[in-house]
Amino acid sequence: MADTASNGNGAFLDVRDLRKHFAIRRGFFSRVAGQVRAVDGVSFQLRQGEVLGLVGESGCGKTTLARAILRLIEPTSGDVFFDGIPVLALKGQELRRLRKRMQIIFQDPYGSLNPRLTVGSMVAEAIRIHKIARGQAVKRRVAELLERVGIPSEHMNRYPHEFSGGQRQRIGIARSLAVGPELIIADEPVSALDVSIQAQILNLLDDLRKDLGLTFLFIAHDLSVVEHISDRVAVMYLGRIVELADAVDLYKNAKHPYTKALMSAIPSMDPMRKSRRIVLEGDVPSPANVPAGCPFHTRCPEAMPRCRTQKPKPAEVGAGHTVSCWLHEGETHDLSD
Ligand code: SF4
Repeated sequence: MADTASNGNGAFLDVRDLRKHFAIRRGFFSRVAGQVRAVDGVSFQLRQGEVLGLVGESGCGKTTLARAILRLIEPTSGDVFFDGIPVLALKGQELRRLRKRMQIIFQDPYGSLNPRLTVGSMVAEAIRIHKIARGQAVKRRVAELLERVGIPSEHMNRYPHEFSGGQRQRIGIARSLAVGPELIIADEPVSALDVSIQAQILNLLDDLRKDLGLTFLFIAHDLSVVEHISDRVAVMYLGRIVELADAVDLYKNAKHPYTKALMSAIPSMDPMRKSRRIVLEGDVPSPANVPAGCPFHTRCPEAMPRCRTQKPKPAEVGAGHTVSCWLHEGETHDLSD
């Protein structure tokens, strides 16, 4: 891991070859019997003010990736630079200072809110811990934040169970905003909500992004959720990004068979967008037993013999559009050269 002070490429968030492997231990002596490769070599950059959607099925490593970037779990290897700062080299006070600038919104708003605290004291706690305000100014700031996310400030003395799921997610967002973050990692923030409420929360996040100039890594398991909020979209399978492109380009011109399958599952009223549903056989293989060659070959409808033994590398198939698939070998510029 790097200990230098600059990443040199000007990206606001720069994730390089990040890995998080968990040891599988067995037997009386807890010997290491294998590795779960939850995140297995992920690289991407985010510009300031950009929204990158990160999509993949459950178990593909998205949440582990989010937590490793924020160092809520320690990565196995790789580098993360935030605004030029080497995140993985920070300790103690420096890391706490950086955490103020990088916040997470969780999928389950109820699980992430303390049921014994009023929503006002929860938001105030974040403000006090990070010394954002003191005395009466804390209460004023809490009221402002709650109103900003659509919760009437007179409800600040209520408890989480007195709110609906959508309102609790709004409170979770207010708590994340309390410390004045610049990057927000939203980990499936609408997956637990009814479809009608999902749109309201997505609109709120989009407004916050525009008004406050926030940068977002927006995680979802469904391409339709991130379509309207993302500038670019990355598709993840078994711990790796298999395709990354500008959002408009990806939704019009997906290249990877896995992306195409996810895309075919999006319901659409647009006749130009209607396509035959591609149903993938079987489940995602275990990250403890990643298939050799292309990790997707066990489910890929277009797999060729070489896919079973040779792993494709990410290659550029258009401006800013990268894909890891042998089908696009002839049209690519190999990024690993
Ligand atoms: Fe399918 Fe082969 Fe492409 Fe992998 S490399 S996605 S198995 S065609």
